[in-house]
Amino acid sequence: MSADLHAQAREFVDRNQSSGLSTAEQAWLEDHLRHCAQCNGYSELTARTIQGLGSFSFSVDPGLVARTQEALTRRAQEMEAKRSRYRMYLRGFALACLFTMMGSVLAWQGWAWVAQRMQLVPWESQLGFSLFWVLPSATVAMLLLVGLALERSRINERSLV
Ligand SMILES: [Zn+2]
Repeated sequence: MSADLHAQAREFVDRNQSSGLSTAEQAWLEDHLRHCAQCNGYSELTARTIQGLGSFSFSVDPGLVARTQEALTRRAQEMEAKRSRYRMYLRGFALACLFTMMGSVLAWQGWAWVAQRMQLVPWESQLGFSLFWVLPSATVAMLLLVGLALERSRINERSLV
């Protein structure tokens, strides 16, 4: 017998349990099951499994249902709070980057004037600018990035629970 026939028989067995078969399909399946031990075994196992599922029932304590719903609601609220904190860090980081770049362009001109007044040589002027302008705002951006990473790992960690 070809493998296709067995596959067909198993498909009929599955369908027989859910949507049902036509009379011709039903007859074909019964005939196949009579001659094929493998598919017959599959059919019996399927029937037994479905019977087993039918008798699988349990009573639920109403208090437990309420507590479970409450816990799920609380969990959803916590997740939402974490996500909004995450978005806040993300916006903060984007703003800090923007200010670092735009601010540097604007502040450079003011700094150049100061550096000229103080008669700084170029490397002193660049170092001063880096230390007093670029470094602080880049630090803020980095701290926000760290916060972002922490928040993200906390979200991922908790969603596994
Ligand atoms: Zn078969």
